[in-house]
Amino acid sequence: MKIQTLKERKLSLKTDGELVLFFVGTGSAFTKRQYQTNLLIIKGNDHILIDCGTKGPQALSELGLPVTSIKNFLITHSHADHIGGLEEVALMSRYITKEKPVMIINETYQYILWDMSLRGGCAYNEEEAMDILTFSDFFDILRPQWMPDYPRETFQVKVGSIDLKIMRTKHIPDSSSDWQSSFWSCGVIIDDRVMFTSDTRYDYDLVTYYEKIFNFEAIFHDCQFFTGGVHAGIEELKQFPPDIKKKLYLSHYGDNWEDFEGKVKEYGFADLARQHIFYVF
Ligand SMILES: [Zn+2]
Ligand SMILES: [Zn+2]
Repeated sequence: MKIQTLKERKLSLKTDGELVLFFVGTGSAFTKRQYQTNLLIIKGNDHILIDCGTKGPQALSELGLPVTSIKNFLITHSHADHIGGLEEVALMSRYITKEKPVMIINETYQYILWDMSLRGGCAYNEEEAMDILTFSDFFDILRPQWMPDYPRETFQVKVGSIDLKIMRTKHIPDSSSDWQSSFWSCGVIIDDRVMFTSDTRYDYDLVTYYEKIFNFEAIFHDCQFFTGGVHAGIEELKQFPPDIKKKLYLSHYGDNWEDFEGKVKEYGFADLARQHIFYVF
């Protein structure tokens, strides 16, 4: 993996064929100094935005990209730092650009995303054949395929040349003992080379199980600087073996990250994930 800095103000959604990960933000849900942890995956002519939080459209706009330039979305769960910008995507696409973006989503999470979150702001703007609008009036749905060979629920989808495996995670509530008893949330594996956990509590099995299969080049992992609640604490992540820690880039961290740069090094992590940096594979 190579790391490159953003030189031009305008971010391109194309690469020469390399797989590029670009964090629009690496901050926590309530960050005021960064943008929220939303991840752009770009490879050749293909791209996917993983999550579009409340600050997502603004963050993209400052990179020269209107949110309507994003053609493919995958949402990892329903907290506002991951879906808060989606109503803007839906309404702008339907009423301004009149081009539906693609949403990679399974049936279970489509129900949750639409019926528990987006429906209130989107469904009632017009009457469609005497009926209210539905999810597919706003998004072209791309269904990932369930992969029955994995013991943890895993789905696969291809967006052009980009392969995504989508695996269930253990995020909320704070009392759930495993992914099965957690509310719906997921992380992604990109081209079998990189893992991005999105939001998760400390879940040793999640990382070690897929790491054994894929031997990742890098793992971008949820991290908070205290223990407890619904995210992985840095003291918990310290328990991973050294060969895993040296691939771990910590994302979704709080605004006091400078106080923990030393600890990140001392514990043997690769680094904090940095916003507006190209991770090139
Ligand atoms: Zn979050
Ligand atoms: Zn969350």
